[in-house]
Order: sequence, then structure tokens, then C-alpha cells
Amino acid sequence: MTKITIAKGDGIGPEIMNATLEILNAAGARIETDEIEIGEKVYLSGNTSGISDESWDIVRRNKIFLKAPITTPQGGGYKSLNVSTRKFLGLYANVRPCISLHPFVETKHPKMDIVIIRENEEDLYAGIEHQQTDEVVQCLKLISRPGCEKIVRYAFEFAKQQNRKKVTCFTKDNIMKQTDGLFHEVFNEIAKEYPEIQNEHWIVDIGAAKVADTPQVFDVIVMPNLYGDIISDIAAQITGSVGLAGSSNIGEECSMFEAIHGTAPDIGGKNIANPSGLLQGAIMMLNHIGQSDIAEKIQNAWLKTIEDGIHTSDIYNEDTSKQKVGTKEFTKAVINNLGLKPSILISANFTNSGEIKMPKYIRRAPSKKELVGVDMFTHWGDTDPNILAEKINSLGIKNLELSMITNRGIKVWPNGFKETFCTDHWRCRFKKEDNSMMSNKDIIDLLEKLNNENLEIIKTENLYSFDGKNAFSLGQGQ
Ligand code: NAD
Repeated sequence: MTKITIAKGDGIGPEIMNATLEILNAAGARIETDEIEIGEKVYLSGNTSGISDESWDIVRRNKIFLKAPITTPQGGGYKSLNVSTRKFLGLYANVRPCISLHPFVETKHPKMDIVIIRENEEDLYAGIEHQQTDEVVQCLKLISRPGCEKIVRYAFEFAKQQNRKKVTCFTKDNIMKQTDGLFHEVFNEIAKEYPEIQNEHWIVDIGAAKVADTPQVFDVIVMPNLYGDIISDIAAQITGSVGLAGSSNIGEECSMFEAIHGTAPDIGGKNIANPSGLLQGAIMMLNHIGQSDIAEKIQNAWLKTIEDGIHTSDIYNEDTSKQKVGTKEFTKAVINNLGLKPSILISANFTNSGEIKMPKYIRRAPSKKELVGVDMFTHWGDTDPNILAEKINSLGIKNLELSMITNRGIKVWPNGFKETFCTDHWRCRFKKEDNSMMSNKDIIDLLEKLNNENLEIIKTENLYSFDGKNAFSLGQGQ
């Protein structure tokens, strides 16, 4: 018996969770459940995290969490519990298989069978946002080497375990050379350790277009958090319905299993929802906890039900379906089919689908890190960068040189274009006049000088080189 935590969530959550548990029990899953309350009710009772401390204790004790979708109320500073659960529990790998069920579920992509592996802890989902001036807000995109190494290695290990032939990486490193550049670089490094698996990289925009147009050219695709969030919804939807896909969120200690869709408030409580997404999540959970025999039995019964044309309304189609059913009727049909296999769709074989054991991340030796400059960001109300440069250059700053001013990343001084639109958020880049290394004392002196002249510095970013290589972006146009 494995003890798992369950949460029924909001909207269609309770209906699809009840359906899933009914099927798991009927199939003989060797699980016991601890139910916790999370989501809207908990948020609205005044808990801004959407979960109580006691519930966290249960989730951490059981380590395996089957979760229905929840609503995060808008406004009021409520933090998304989905995002915090993934981050608090270190669930770095989000695995989202998207497979078409042709000819039983209508799709333009009959041969689609892809698995999206989404980095789950970092990127823009760090949720570090600030308003810095009247006109400009920012969101920090954080990408780490451990984050990249763990997710990329997981993707290759997953491909190896599942006997898949190719791992593709999506990034936008032509624009974000540091952040997405690191993800791509780590992908290239780790791909070399798996010579038996093909590897390739696509820029995410054309890659996403290709997923929507010809998904059959892909196999496993690994990508940073935000791209993975968006593209996995597209991928699930084009198999026939977002209601068909489940996902696992895997960490070193704990894991969480869920549907990829949300609470579907438009159909909540109406016995319309397709429980397949959460059921697919539960099947991934059963494989993870070593109950592949039960996982296989349920998957085959589910495939048979789809093949029998017994469909919920999201996938019902007069040409391909036989009977339109509600959540409860679909559940009964799956239970009736336990022990049977599909005859046209490929039946499940989960002999090699257990938990993937990953090596611990090993930190590298530190590089030689040198401070070579500083970016000072200022809130300044004029629109002419020449005046800002003149003001700074008249301050008599010793040893340091103003080398560039940018506005929203584009170089506007020296030699900017008069056509460039400027906001009240300016970046002023300083380097040593002789291009030598800087010290923190140089930065403090500079801040004092700028402060004395009433230039409002809203933040500074140090410019470093690592092992002699500059590790910061140039201004656009520099
Ligand atoms: P959604 O996925 O809930 O719904 C999008 C559309 O798909 C709706 O038309 C819905 O009826 C349909 N749909 C979704 N699941 C279905 C199913 N199982 N069967 C049939 N049809 C289904 O997305 P949304 O409307 O953007 O979000 C609604 C709420 O869900 C929001 O509050 C959002 O924050 C939350 N949400 C939660 C999670 C989660 O808990 N993991 C994920 C995404 C969104």
C-alpha cells in the first residue's frame, strides 16, 4: 500500500477526482488516500498561500500528491499554489505526454506522439517583479546551471527509459544569449553523454509553429518553464482536447500528478467534464510508485473506452463518436472495460516506466570572476539622452567612464537615433577608463556622486567576466 495525498480542488476538480479515484479503486490500485483542502476556499478564508501548514505537513510526509486543478483568486496578492507547490517541493521536471487517438478522436495530426518536458522551477516563474518608474515594470528571468542540467538530463533519461529516439530543445537564445543561451549550452553538453539518442535545437517561435503544424517530426521536447507552459497546452489541445492530457511534476523527494487543464469554471458541477486528464496524471503516478500492472490495466480500459466511441462532449464528434456521455457515465464505461484491451489503438505496455533515478547535481569548481563594470538604472523624466549624458559627465567621476546609455535595452547614447521612443527608465553603463577591473568601492563612490546630484538610482547590476569572458549582454545597437 502506498499512502498518497489527494486534493479535489475547485470547479470541475471534485468531479474528475471522484471519477479518477473510482477507477483506481475498481482497478485494485494499492493506495490509501489522505485528503487535504486547497484552493479557493482556503485562499478566501484569509490564507494567501491557498494551503494550511497542516496540509503541507501531510503532502511532505506522503511525498506523492494527486492534485485536481484549483482556482487562484485574481487580485489581493494571492500566490499561485500550483507554482509554489512545484517550487517548495523542488518538482523540477514537468512531463506532459500529448498523443493523438486517431481515428477515434478528431485531430488534424493523426500521428502525433510527443512528450513535452518543461522546466518547472525557474525562468520568469520566479515571480520577482517590480515597478521601478512611473512608466516601467520588470520581471526577472532567472535560469540556473543546476536547473538546466537537471531538466535536460531528465529529458534524456526519460527518452532512454521510454526508448524514444530524439530529444529536441527549444529556446530563444538568439535574443536571450545569457539565460536561454545557458539552457542551450547545457543541452549541447549533456546531449553528448547520450550518443544513441538524436538531438537538435529549434528557436522556440518556429519550433512552436512546427509543433502546431507537423508535430509528428518531434519526439521528446525539453524547454524552459514559460515556453513549456504555453506549448504543452497547444500540444494537448491539438490532439483533440486539453481535457485529455495529464502531467507529472517530479522532484528528488516528492512528486505531484495532475491534469494539465484548469478548473473549467464554465462546466463545473454539470457532469460534463472529461476526467481523462487527471486519470492520465494518476496513471503516471501509478507507474512512478511501482504499480505499472494497475497503470497498464487502467490505460488499456481507457483506450478501449475511447475506441468504443464513448466520449465526453469535449471530444464528441458525430463522425468519430458513438455515444455522448457525462463524467459519471464515462467513468462507468472505463470501469466496465477493466481487463480489456483496445484493438486498433496501441495497447499500453508499461514494463519499463518506473521512477527515473537521477544522479545528484554536482557543483562545478568556481570560475575566475572579475568585476568589469556596472549598469546604473535611473528614473529620469526628460526624454533626451544627450542631456542625461551631459549631466553625468559633468559630475567629475574619477576613473570611471560612462560608456553607453540604453532605454528598454536599445542604445540611445552615444549616437542614438532620434526616432527611438524613450521611457523614464534609463540604463547607464560605466566601465573603468582604462578598461581594467573595478572594485565595489568604485560602485559605492559612483552611487554617492549620482545621489548627490539628485539622480535617482533605482537599481544597479554589476557586470562580470567569468574566466575572462564577458558575461552580460551588450546594448542593442552597441
Ligand atoms: P481551463 O483549462 O480551466 O479551461 C479552458 C477550456 O477548456 C474551457 O472551455 C473548459 O471548459 C475546457 N476544459 C478544460 N478542462 C476540461 C475537461 N476536463 N473537460 C472538458 N473541457 C475542459 O483554463 P482557464 O479557463 O484558463 O482557467 C480556469 C481556471 O483554472 C483559472 O482560475 C486558472 O487559474 C485555473 N487553472 C488551474 C490550473 C491548475 O490548478 N493546475 C491550471 C490552469 C488553470
